[in-house]
Amino acid sequence: MLRCTLFPFLTLDGGLELSRPWGYAKAMEKILVSACLMGHAVRYDGQSKPLAHPAIAQWIEEGRLVTICPEMSAGMPVPRPPAEIVGGATGEDVLAGNARVVESTGGDVTNEFRQAAENALVLATQTGCRYALLIDGSPSCGSGFVYDGTFSGQKHTGNGVTAALLKRAGIAIYSDRDIEALVTRLAADEAETNT
Ligand code: SF4
Repeated sequence: MLRCTLFPFLTLDGGLELSRPWGYAKAMEKILVSACLMGHAVRYDGQSKPLAHPAIAQWIEEGRLVTICPEMSAGMPVPRPPAEIVGGATGEDVLAGNARVVESTGGDVTNEFRQAAENALVLATQTGCRYALLIDGSPSCGSGFVYDGTFSGQKHTGNGVTAALLKRAGIAIYSDRDIEALVTRLAADEAETNT
């Protein structure tokens, strides 16, 4: 990240670092967001899943959103076979080396999913995101539930691999269903920071 030498809290792309030594500039939290929620056709089936909510338009206007498709960032194509974490396991299990991610066609994509998670964490860190808005149910971005690895539509509580890694790093994860909670949290945190 390029940094202004006179005012080290400023980055040279115009961004404002979150932890500032002076209180006169308002902090604006950045949010890492799943690309498919933003209308990008990056899902395994070549579709998107845009989230219609007034906060999205506002956050775009404010330049808050940092968009990534973790799986595509790891070189996975569109379309691609659907993938699930096997054995009813979770993203944490994958990160610990105790579970695999497989495609419906049998391909083992565990390494790609781990790389995807690392890419998302690097981007979140570089851009100062302390919050993430991720689509639920995905073996990468899921945070409330994931599918159980049988490709039968059975789901269980747990994180996808990217969500698990971001969470471990201290980033607050919100699913698309919880966007109202994120709106409330941001308002509270920024009000506290800017007073
Ligand atoms: S990895 Fe995340 S952003 Fe990419 S298609 Fe899957 S759910 Fe959407």
